[in-house]
Amino acid sequence: MKKFLKNPWTISMGSVFFGFLLTVLYDLIKGKNIFSTVGGILSNVITFLLSVMNFRLKVWWVLIGLIVVFLILCLIARYNESKTIQAEQEKPPFFKYTKDQIKGWNWEWRWYKNLYGQYDIEDLHPVCSSCGTPLVRSDNIEYNLECMRCNKKYSEYLPDMDNIKIYIRDSAKRGIYQGNESEINRRQL
Ligand SMILES: [Zn+2]
Repeated sequence: MKKFLKNPWTISMGSVFFGFLLTVLYDLIKGKNIFSTVGGILSNVITFLLSVMNFRLKVWWVLIGLIVVFLILCLIARYNESKTIQAEQEKPPFFKYTKDQIKGWNWEWRWYKNLYGQYDIEDLHPVCSSCGTPLVRSDNIEYNLECMRCNKKYSEYLPDMDNIKIYIRDSAKRGIYQGNESEINRRQL
């Protein structure tokens, strides 16, 4: 019996039943019909549901609703577009400087904004001087790198990548790179 009383189900169901009993008792004392409270709540819920389901929509309300939704979508699209344009304009001029010939090798890379909000180089790799394909380690031990597209072999060793990055960052900072001829000409004058 003790176990039955300590069971969580007994406790929760018991409290619900006790609450129901109290309501009935309250109704009895007040002289109301026993089921008036329960019935009242139920009928209110049903009436509310029915009124929602039977709500007569006017066509022009639906049309205005659709137009408002359409306008909101247009505004969101415009906002996103202007954000993209703004982000594009905020990019530094060297953002287009993504290839160069350094130490006899052709290099390509990408710029990205690091955690400190500064632009840095990623995916720096040597490419084939004939066709621009990224170079891979050669299967032939006589060579160091090779191009999988045109089969050109490279026997020289690559210079240190960190040194190449230093060179690229310096060129970007000083504005001396291809595609920025005005700056190069200004410096040569
Ligand atoms: Zn190639």
